[in-house]
Amino acid sequence: MNEDPIIIIGAGPAGLMAAQQLALKGYRVHIYEKNKAAARKFLVAGHGGFNLTHNEPIDTFIQKYDALEIKKIVQSFDNEATIQWLSSIGISTYVGSSGKIFPSKNTKPIQVLQAWLDHLQQLGVSIHYGYTWLDFDKQSATFESDGIIVNRNYQKLILALGGGSWKKTGSDAAWIAILKNKNIAITALQSANSGYNMIAPFKNLEGQVLKNISISFGDQRKLGEIVFTKYGIEGSPIYYMNRYTRNHEFPLFLHIDLKPHMSEIDILEQLQSEGNVSSILKNKLKLSSTALTVLKNLDKATFTDPITLAQAIKKFPIQILSLRPIDEVISTAGGVSFAELDERLAFHKFPTIYCAGEMIDWEAPTGGYLLQACFSTGVWVAQAISNSLVIE
Ligand SMILES: Cc1cc2nc3c(=O)[nH]c(=O)nc-3n(C[C@H](O)[C@H](O)[C@H](O)COP(=O)(O)OP(=O)(O)OC[C@H]3O[C@@H](n4cnc5c(N)ncnc54)[C@H](O)[C@@H]3O)c2cc1C
Repeated sequence: MNEDPIIIIGAGPAGLMAAQQLALKGYRVHIYEKNKAAARKFLVAGHGGFNLTHNEPIDTFIQKYDALEIKKIVQSFDNEATIQWLSSIGISTYVGSSGKIFPSKNTKPIQVLQAWLDHLQQLGVSIHYGYTWLDFDKQSATFESDGIIVNRNYQKLILALGGGSWKKTGSDAAWIAILKNKNIAITALQSANSGYNMIAPFKNLEGQVLKNISISFGDQRKLGEIVFTKYGIEGSPIYYMNRYTRNHEFPLFLHIDLKPHMSEIDILEQLQSEGNVSSILKNKLKLSSTALTVLKNLDKATFTDPITLAQAIKKFPIQILSLRPIDEVISTAGGVSFAELDERLAFHKFPTIYCAGEMIDWEAPTGGYLLQACFSTGVWVAQAISNSLVIE
């Protein structure tokens, strides 16, 4: 009987979830974390919307994920399960107008984390802060702590080291070099849920929001709102397009539909009615002042011809130069290839070592889908381990 504990490296949402599920089943769990505190990126997520999951039927929910493997894992611990789990640690939730699920009003992100950590402590999970993972072999993991190199034996090892954005939160993707050194294939990390740099940003629109529009690229179309920035554009329909533009050559064009609920023919009819163009755009087509400023970027010939103006309202082109730098985006695509992992999320080459969270090669939009997959993979590896181990 192996007396060594289960070791989890990384105290983010995926690692904490795996720890909780294993501790609930009676396993001895030790988490090693390089920071002096847990889940810093989880708290950063809390500064924005803090969407813990999303209120949506599971059939459409799982369509938000790219890889088949992650769809299956999310289905097995879904949004409903997340809400129940949050309730089990004393966190009630509510559904926002866009379907995003938040902790109930007046519950701060740090309170959610503290409730979770208190729960882990009651379950006997030990968290060792200030331990940076450096290497591993089939029995032990090697860490640096306070300038000293230490080895810790494990019976099962779970890697939950995160993606590569927001390095200051601890997720610096240094694990890539460690795993590549052991011949594990890693899909290169790329910016996900990222804004775009435009070739010629609309400087006069910086900070302005364009609501009730849709963005299209090829046959993909997404409704929502976008915000113009110094360098280009941000917003959920923009983030949605990342996945579809990823394998295309930049620069490329996205298109804004400024009147997504009206046909080009109806728009043209209005533009050809009595009155001057500006008044029709404002009063009959009810375009916002931001949309009107967007249209002012058209050349005179396009703006003054009702046919080309109607076309521009439905398909305003914006030329995209690139994604934003990895360090400042919400998440990263790429990571440990599913081909390296078996059904349990354990490495084929190292069957006692498992992976969970954003470090695996899956991609999803922001809005609760990222944290959900981190929770789900944490539960999945815990379940796989408990299926293979018997507690004496
Ligand atoms: C600005 C922002 C807003 C976001 N908003 C949302 C949102 O509203 N909804 C949503 O679903 N998602 C959101 N996310 C994404 C979400 O926070 C992440 O997907 C999630 O935190 C990833 O969890 P993880 O456990 O896989 O990794 P992480 O949370 O990145 O945790 C990994 C942990 O591993 C530790 N670690 C790394 N390397 C080592 C090492 N060598 N040794 C020891 N420890 C190590 C790190 O310090 C870190 O604590 C947001 C992200 C950002 C940046």
